[in-house]
Amino acid sequence: MTQKFKTSITRRHFGALLGAGAATLAMPAYLRAQGRPRVVVVGGGPGGATAARYIAKDSNGEIDVTLIDANETFTTCFFSNLYLGDFQSFDDITHNWDQLVANHGITKITAYATGVDRAAKTVTLDNGDTVEYDRLVLSPGIDIVYDSVPGYSEEVSEIAPHAWRAGRQTQILKEKLDALEDGQHIVMVAPPNPYRCPPGPYERVSMFAHVLKRKGFENSRIYVIDPKEAFSKQALFEEGWARHYPGMVEWYGPDIHGGILNVDAKAGIVETDFDTFEGALLNIIPAQRAGAIAHEAGLTNEAGWVPIDPYTMRSQEDEEVYVLGDATVAGDMPKSGFSANSQAKVAAMNIRGDLTDANVFPARYANTCWSLIETDDGVKVGAQYQPTDEKIESVSSFISQTGESDELRKETYEESLGWYDGIIEDMFS
Ligand SMILES: Cc1cc2nc3c(=O)[nH]c(=O)nc-3n(C[C@H](O)[C@H](O)[C@H](O)COP(=O)(O)OP(=O)(O)OC[C@H]3O[C@@H](n4cnc5c(N)ncnc54)[C@H](O)[C@@H]3O)c2cc1C
Repeated sequence: MTQKFKTSITRRHFGALLGAGAATLAMPAYLRAQGRPRVVVVGGGPGGATAARYIAKDSNGEIDVTLIDANETFTTCFFSNLYLGDFQSFDDITHNWDQLVANHGITKITAYATGVDRAAKTVTLDNGDTVEYDRLVLSPGIDIVYDSVPGYSEEVSEIAPHAWRAGRQTQILKEKLDALEDGQHIVMVAPPNPYRCPPGPYERVSMFAHVLKRKGFENSRIYVIDPKEAFSKQALFEEGWARHYPGMVEWYGPDIHGGILNVDAKAGIVETDFDTFEGALLNIIPAQRAGAIAHEAGLTNEAGWVPIDPYTMRSQEDEEVYVLGDATVAGDMPKSGFSANSQAKVAAMNIRGDLTDANVFPARYANTCWSLIETDDGVKVGAQYQPTDEKIESVSSFISQTGESDELRKETYEESLGWYDGIIEDMFS
């Protein structure tokens, strides 16, 4: 951590201790002179939409908030596996930002942000416009590193979808899943760490299996080719697969498959050092990195992610830019919608502290990731987190146990339904 950064943390904590008076003094006079300070948020997912909403709502009109997202609607990746399993419709998981505009006076711009000039404090858009900011929030999610899997590309993803960014990709995957016949196989290539939603691939395998089982496809198999030696909630998934889908799921870690040599999507083949796996459906989930705008803004590290200040979610490169969600290096927090939503509230509070008289309190973060293995068989993993000088650190955690009662598993699933409704309201209402 740089000395410059330590100084800023100290100042922020000092401000928090002194409360409103100190925050007011810290606010540059020109911001007041020019009228309302401007916050621009790029990305309208759980990070960006939550930050925009909390800044606008809690500042009671004192801060001008503009939300930029490339799309007119937002389909959540969370619950997209449940859409594959027919537990949710595509409409159920698709939302928009209309209420943020109507209820909180947020300006929504539908455009792709192509660049950030941090010296001039402007964001450039693909429609040629430039938007000025006093504080910038970036929550652009992930980019897919297509060439991390030999033979894979954006073009190939049209026939072998990753569906790791929700929308048309998710629909392609669903169409291909629904078109399978008994005896046809699915091959999933799972992503290396770190990636969006650690249990996501394995919940997806469960939903694939749920659909095949429901159709009575006893001769179909799901092969998972994993670059990782272990995965999130592994014991719970393996127990669930053996219980609900015996013999249907075959998971291969790197010790067994020895490395992925090539994907031939047209031939429906994944070649590994160990064997060639054939599937009528290939679901290839490559490595990931922060969304392009984070790179354009010059905020990413060598691994492609944005280091942040654990106390505030400010970028370590620029105190006036906050970065949220999947794009960040968030210590012990996984890349999840729950995490992004939690981080957004910390950032919103600090931005209000920067720009108005609002109090700033110590950051607290939380996450829970639920997964559905089979109808009413839900499991979860989660933690509470606190910032340290080094990272956002887990301070207490919990995980579902193998052998739990059907009743508890059903409760866990129902809890996840409540969480989904809650986060959607927290983002979009
Ligand atoms: C299959 C699957 C299941 C999942 N299940 C869960 C779950 O159960 N629980 C959970 O908590 N999380 C889950 N997740 C993870 C969750 O979806 C992500 O962690 C979360 O969406 C990250 O939020 P974000 O705000 O960082 O980015 P995103 O949600 O990706 O939002 C980014 C937004 O920014 C926009 N954007 C990006 N760049 C630009 C630009 N330059 N200009 C304009 N707009 C731009 C994009 O269009 C997008 O709307 C799951 C993910 C997957 C793939």
